[in-house]
Amino acid sequence: MKSFNSTVILLTAIGIKASDAQSIPSGKLWTVVQNDKVKVHTYMSPAAMFANTSHIIELENEIIIVDGQFFAPYALELKRATDSIGKPISRFYISHDHPDHYIGFGDAFPSVKVYALEETKESIEKDGQGVLLQRQAQFGPMIASKLNKPSVIQNPGEEIIGNVKFIFEKSTNHESAVSLIIKLPEIGIYIAQDIVYNKIHLFVEGNTKGWQEALNKIVKESEYKTILSGHGKEGGKELLKDNLDYLDFVEKTITQSKNKDEFKSIILKKYPEYGGEQLIDIYLNFYLKPHHWSN
Ligand SMILES: [Zn+2]
Repeated sequence: MKSFNSTVILLTAIGIKASDAQSIPSGKLWTVVQNDKVKVHTYMSPAAMFANTSHIIELENEIIIVDGQFFAPYALELKRATDSIGKPISRFYISHDHPDHYIGFGDAFPSVKVYALEETKESIEKDGQGVLLQRQAQFGPMIASKLNKPSVIQNPGEEIIGNVKFIFEKSTNHESAVSLIIKLPEIGIYIAQDIVYNKIHLFVEGNTKGWQEALNKIVKESEYKTILSGHGKEGGKELLKDNLDYLDFVEKTITQSKNKDEFKSIILKKYPEYGGEQLIDIYLNFYLKPHHWSN
């Protein structure tokens, strides 16, 4: 999910003002899976605040974090979680260049070494500071005072870190143009981030074909039993089917509806239990504009 100028719609909708950094609801932290070499924990902001996940990979002597929140108070909660583990953070990964994954943690983790794919590093180098300034102007203390930008390029490939095998892959043309996938085959963990949402409305900018292809690729990777999402809790392979069905339904509904309002009401009726309704407003107001719609 991207967070844009229009994120104000979301905050207004849930009754939070820019000055209310102290009164926001807390996130959640839990352990997803563990063996004798590695534990994987997830920290997640509340559903009404994007359900942004940060994953904490706890190795024997170090911690690796994946993604750093949008709102600064949640990155600070993440910091309290990693402090309580009491191991040094050796790498902080950013999965892709959408602001809800990289603008939150500059104050909470000002000096950790940040890793990203080359394209993501370049994109944040170019646009990150401007994005941060925009969000500061809109949301004040909810936004970090500074960025901690990627300084290390992560190339696709395999590495052993802390005696655990990591596989890094580049995935393209889905929810974002480019994103990093991290896989831990020894414990069946597939960190998909924003390729997979869990019970949060998917952020649809336009054609969904590339996104469906990326999901179908994960379906074939049968050794991975646990999929970690960028928005929402982890799940099994059923999450992939849920996302594919959702995108199919979105495509069908775009074709069959006459305008934004009709589209949104059909989606909400089909998925009443999903969080992030405001995400639909954001993409309808700013991104998704089929030619045949009247508004
Ligand atoms: Zn996102």
